[in-house]
Amino acid sequence: MNLPIRARLTVLYSVVLASSFVAFFWVSDLGFRRSIEATVDNASRTNLETVRRLVLANSSLRGESKLREELSRLAELWANGALFEVASSNGHWIFRSQQFLRIYPALPQIVDRDLSFATTNLDASQYRIALQRVTTGGEVYEIHAAVPTEPFDQALDHFRLMEKEILPLLVLLASLSGYWLSGRSLAPVNRIIETAGLIGAQNLSSRLEVPRARDDLRRLTETLNAMLARIEASFKRITQFTADASHDLRTPVAVIRATAEITLRKLRTQEQYRRALSTILETSVDTSELLENLLTLARADAGAAGMEMRPLDLSAHVQKARERAALLGLEKALDVTATTPPEPVWVKADAIAVDRLLLILLDNAVKYSPRGGRCEIALSQSENHAQITVRDSGAGIPEIELNNIFDRFYRVDRARSKNTGGAGLGLAIARWIAEMHGGTIAAESTVGAGSAFHVLIPVHAKS
Ligand code: ADP
Repeated sequence: MNLPIRARLTVLYSVVLASSFVAFFWVSDLGFRRSIEATVDNASRTNLETVRRLVLANSSLRGESKLREELSRLAELWANGALFEVASSNGHWIFRSQQFLRIYPALPQIVDRDLSFATTNLDASQYRIALQRVTTGGEVYEIHAAVPTEPFDQALDHFRLMEKEILPLLVLLASLSGYWLSGRSLAPVNRIIETAGLIGAQNLSSRLEVPRARDDLRRLTETLNAMLARIEASFKRITQFTADASHDLRTPVAVIRATAEITLRKLRTQEQYRRALSTILETSVDTSELLENLLTLARADAGAAGMEMRPLDLSAHVQKARERAALLGLEKALDVTATTPPEPVWVKADAIAVDRLLLILLDNAVKYSPRGGRCEIALSQSENHAQITVRDSGAGIPEIELNNIFDRFYRVDRARSKNTGGAGLGLAIARWIAEMHGGTIAAESTVGAGSAFHVLIPVHAKS
């Protein structure tokens, strides 16, 4: 059903209520009918009892004509349509109310001495008849007392008529109140829809009004608000990322442009051209590195970074990384060492990504270490994880910064980092690579003594 929720609720409410009303009326009808039947039987039994007493009191000892006389008098007294007849055992009628002639033209066979009941029609009216055989003074009498059921049936008919008239009214009332009630309960939902419709990129900090009642709507609103908060945070991160990226790209482009412009203003010596060109070259190398990093993170955000996970031995990659770090550290005369276990350490990983992760950590270790410092890479394996630790004897990172250094564009000391040329993207990429491999990355550091970065990657049982 494609009906709006309010219409569906109303239909549901009306159907449920209408069925309850029908069930209620059906049960009441049944109860009413039973009670009417009992009342009618009671009335005919009472009448029969009266006649029986009269018969017993005027038994044959005092003569049949006396009894007939008494019975006639009784018949006159009963004006409410009650009938009766009395037959003696030899088959003749002692007394018969007029209409009875037509009910039982012949004497009915009543073998049972106990009281019994029958229903019959006469002149389009129904009668309930109580029948009983009475023995007194050697005589057997057959007594029948009938009461018209019409007055009782009328009451039942009235009741049914009322049911028929009142039921549609009640259903209508139920539908209207259902419509009203569902409207009322859906009003907060409509408010949520209206407010949610107004929230866009410009006012992402707006929140939905939380209803006071602790119900499902409150949970819905709270969930939506939490979702809005998450969207707002991501949106802020993205705008911040774009702003930082443009800022960081503007600087090198400005340097390249200014160098070229100034150099071109007049004729320069060969040496001056060479210096200008190497500045431009260095800056463009940095810029393409920055662009490469930005692209990596953008692909990571889009979930489109295609990694090829294959079983690989981390020891080999650690050794390769040590060689590259040794080259990087040559200028500063750094002592770069690597320790790996004798047996291979298998992980399922993307070889290029692993090399990149190691290079980021080693590059930082080299960058932030003083001349003649130390830089170690240690690979070890526990039951489930391979652990790579990159330790340096550099400047260290203040403890309160340790949580932030993995954020994009975060640099502990902008002035210091400026000299080292970083854009603050390396560790963000490192963390992303570790996470893509189901691993983690963490840092510990003592200012002035050095830092250590620990990467954990689940081991892969090589089959
Ligand atoms: P960057 O390109 O600036 O090095 P990273 O994301 O790699 O960016 O690192 C973020 C910041 O963390 C750096 O700017 C630096 O301040 C700090 N940092 C990272 N590695 C080290 C380290 N080995 N020793 C000291 N500081 C470090």
